[in-house]
Amino acid sequence: MYLLPLDAVRAARRTIAGVAVATPLVPSPFLTARFGHEVLLKLETTQPIGAFKLRGAANAVLALPDGVAGVTCCSTGNHGRGVAYAARRRGLRAVVCMSALVPQAKVAGIRALGAEVRIVGRSQDDAMAESLRLVAEEGLIEISPFDDPLVIAGQATLALELLDECPDLSAVLVPLSGGGLAGGIAAAAKQIKPAIRVIGISMDRGAAMYESLRAGHPVEVDEVASLADSLGGGIGLANRLSFPLCRAYLDDVVLVTEAEIYRALQTVYYEDRMVCEGASAVGIAALLAEKLPALDGPTATILTGRNLDMQVHADIMQGRDVVLGDMVLKGQAYAARPI
Ligand SMILES: *Cc1c(COP(=O)(O)O)cnc(C)c1O
Repeated sequence: MYLLPLDAVRAARRTIAGVAVATPLVPSPFLTARFGHEVLLKLETTQPIGAFKLRGAANAVLALPDGVAGVTCCSTGNHGRGVAYAARRRGLRAVVCMSALVPQAKVAGIRALGAEVRIVGRSQDDAMAESLRLVAEEGLIEISPFDDPLVIAGQATLALELLDECPDLSAVLVPLSGGGLAGGIAAAAKQIKPAIRVIGISMDRGAAMYESLRAGHPVEVDEVASLADSLGGGIGLANRLSFPLCRAYLDDVVLVTEAEIYRALQTVYYEDRMVCEGASAVGIAALLAEKLPALDGPTATILTGRNLDMQVHADIMQGRDVVLGDMVLKGQAYAARPI
């Protein structure tokens, strides 16, 4: 018995068509040459909100009955943008609650879509508390960033696209935070192709799903500033869906350092000429750092989003230092290592 019925994922694909786009899957000639097996990039950076989160948010928002008061969510930035975009399509009020750790570029993007923004506290849990208050006091409907069956089915539509585009895909590297994306993709992909391997990748500072899987139950982690800001935040101590999905279907979870993410952002820019945010680059970081179990056949990684502060991006491309909270990440100019 699969925890996510494939029919729900197929239904999501029909629901979100016309709001979220079916994104390109393109080869990375550099990474392919480097690793001796095909490496493909799934460009969720080309979604209208610049991130895959529109898939799940649209699936949930479009399913709401007419006449609801509006929607609310907590977000590290991209889910809020997805909810704001989908709510605007339906003419619904949207209130997005975020912590002070969310970068300004993401906050501005959400406001530009007409959503109300509340900045509360310094963690996702604080933002979540505000969102739940709005549910209780104003009758808004909460849309979880990862622990909701419709949101997960929406993210899992990526598995359908990946296997349509590349039926002989052997592994997928998925940036992992709350686990709606990785758990959903793993559950759907394995129903179509049981031998496929799905590996979650997180940053090594504050990896909530990794720690929870190790503990055998959801645990809290300290939230710290990271280049992969979209991967911050807990999985919720009362997690119902994304934790069991990740536990059942992920083959492995691998952690990467901030320096490895920095280098991966440079690599994808200088070698593939692509701009993406830190959370998107963790799959490439894990490949470059040779932290993955042996991979042979075609391997895809999901470039999950591109919503980063362009000044930070410019600094990294120039090899300058980056300040992350109370840590200074030493810069280094890009130089391709010989293959
Ligand atoms: C939300 C997000 C992720 C992680 O998705 P989860 O479902 O929370 O695991 C990865 N990358 C980006 C850019 C995101 O916004």
